[in-house]
Amino acid sequence: LVRLRGRLARSQSVFGKGLLGLLSRDRLDDDAWEEIEDSLITADVGVEATREIVERLRDRTKVLGTRDAAGLRGLLAEELLAALDPDLDRSLTFKGKPTVMLVVGVNGAGKTTTCGKIARVLVADGHSVVLGAADTFRAAAADQLATWAGRVGAEVVRGPEGADPASVAFDAVKRGVETGVDTVLVDTAGRLQNKVGLMDELGKVKRVVEKHGPVDETLLVLDATTGQNGLEQARVFTEVVDVTGVVLTKLDGTAKGGIVIAVQRKLGIPVKLVGLGEGPDDLAPFDPAAFVDALLG
Ligand code: GDP
Repeated sequence: LVRLRGRLARSQSVFGKGLLGLLSRDRLDDDAWEEIEDSLITADVGVEATREIVERLRDRTKVLGTRDAAGLRGLLAEELLAALDPDLDRSLTFKGKPTVMLVVGVNGAGKTTTCGKIARVLVADGHSVVLGAADTFRAAAADQLATWAGRVGAEVVRGPEGADPASVAFDAVKRGVETGVDTVLVDTAGRLQNKVGLMDELGKVKRVVEKHGPVDETLLVLDATTGQNGLEQARVFTEVVDVTGVVLTKLDGTAKGGIVIAVQRKLGIPVKLVGLGEGPDDLAPFDPAAFVDALLG
């Protein structure tokens, strides 16, 4: 439903020379295979997925008689694409009146920024949007969200500092219902003190919001530059709430784009959107084919 401009192509160069640029050998000997394996691991594809991809590639090059790096490119592209599960549904659900989206993730991942960027796209598409500042623990978070709201033309609902996040979330959705807006985006706090605390907090936010109706999307925001450790942290969120999609931020300027493969594989949740910068237009739908192209350089 949301038409986000596909601008991943712009980030063609962000992965440096591209995976195959790293391959200094023309012939596919053992050293070359090791280089390919290292490049994939360096790009954060993950050890397990890398092993599988390389094993399949070795088999296929043998069967097909591929001997050079150029011939390998097409095969590697196919394997990377397959590893990304290209047929997954990555669209956002807009069912509710209003549509309600919870935005979750650890602090600093880019939740507030992502709320602002999504609001920007929706408003540009003619939707009305309420932003709920339920991250009441970080003093600046509500201010930051209010700034985004002003910038993109959305309304912000916030509580006093230190207010109960669930009550702010409730008020935001209530406001959305009363004023008949199309979408309410709820920015939540990402304190990962422990799983029980997080579960209590996010669980409560979800429960009170659901008094108004079902939550349509729960988006997990994940910083691509935090690599495999960040992924382990993020997994806790998927155990606490029903995450329906991942937004992978900070893909601009990282050579670690392969994390997309690891995310989907480890979390079993589609990457729906990617963050490509700090500005309001630096958000794009995740397009697996364009992504593989960018990754290969
Ligand atoms: P939150 O704590 O999860 O709400 O994170 P913020 O939205 O405050 O973002 C933390 C920092 O990351 C800010 O400086 C953002 O400008 C920056 N940021 C967020 N998304 C992106 C992105 O896609 N690319 C880059 N380069 N920076 C981003």
